[in-house]
Amino acid sequence: MGNCSTGSCSGCGSKEHEAAPFVAEGDLAARGELDYAIPHRLEDYKPLLPRRAPPYKVHWNWEIILPCNYRCRYCVVHNESASFLTLPVEEWRKIWGRMFKLYGCCQVRFAGGEPTIYPDFINLVAMILEMHTVDITTNLSFDVEEWIKKVPAQGIAISGSLHLDHVEPGEFLKKLLILRDRGNQLISASLVAYPPTLHRVEPIREMFEKERVLFKIIPFNGVYEGKRYPMAYTDDERRILGMQVEKSKDELGKTLNKQWQDYANAKPDDKNFLGIPCHMGELYAKIYSDGTVRRCCHTGVDILGHITDENLKLYDEPRPCTVVACSCWKPMVSGRYEEKVGMLWQSADHPVWQAKAEVLAP
Ligand code: SF4
Repeated sequence: MGNCSTGSCSGCGSKEHEAAPFVAEGDLAARGELDYAIPHRLEDYKPLLPRRAPPYKVHWNWEIILPCNYRCRYCVVHNESASFLTLPVEEWRKIWGRMFKLYGCCQVRFAGGEPTIYPDFINLVAMILEMHTVDITTNLSFDVEEWIKKVPAQGIAISGSLHLDHVEPGEFLKKLLILRDRGNQLISASLVAYPPTLHRVEPIREMFEKERVLFKIIPFNGVYEGKRYPMAYTDDERRILGMQVEKSKDELGKTLNKQWQDYANAKPDDKNFLGIPCHMGELYAKIYSDGTVRRCCHTGVDILGHITDENLKLYDEPRPCTVVACSCWKPMVSGRYEEKVGMLWQSADHPVWQAKAEVLAP
């Protein structure tokens, strides 16, 4: 599966890292690189900030590139011939500075394809981290040592997608642990529960949890041997997946995996939120690789604009859902998700821009 957006990560111990420090607003201004005023006083956030509902922070899901350097049997996302929007990092700085000005410190989640093969990706991430927090869903095929040297370790979560066609779990885990040892506060791993490799899920989960790495098990969404999954999982297979949730000692892992499985097992009516207000579009938006911005990931939902539009804005409040069967595994439907949001929509703390929800709430 491509490195699609798969969830949040748990905290873990961290050491001082040796990467470049964050650049504070004053430093940027002194270098003449700040051509926008970053609002950081609470009164400057009104009326768009603070957002009045959890998760308070705006989440951007950026499917930045569809090509991938892996060829996984179960992948339905990667597309080698798909074009994608490329801009110099300094142009992206203007765009993400504008979003900072509108919404404060946001969470920017990179997905794909394999986002780390996007041109100049390391410098793009380092720039965004000046203003926002970041989560990257990646197959970890990049050079970890180079990464550590150039990308700050605070404010970022690394969600590693383990693809057994290409890498062994031990080698993959080693990379994650190097990132954690060098200061990355949030690391996690995920594995697609592909029918032929289902028997490997338990030992691999145990291996990762032994090292206190959050391990997410993603139900397979696609066709295998003519059968459409996740509906085609047998009772035995569902039991195996359910057991993995029960056996997990990691509470966050348990919550995320249960959410995935509930979604995979949900009946169509349980996913129908037509007409019910949803915070997606207000607290969340998906950016497609061509720069189109939609309110959520469901095909055909409202387009909010293009990421380069100077007047691009999110909704000011939740709006009714317009589709019959929501395809999001953690929709932000008003009144239905608030109690789960602390677990499902976690993000790293930014070392400079720490807008606390309890401070910002009315
Ligand atoms: S309920 Fe689902 S499809 Fe509807 S707006 Fe929310 S996330 Fe999108």
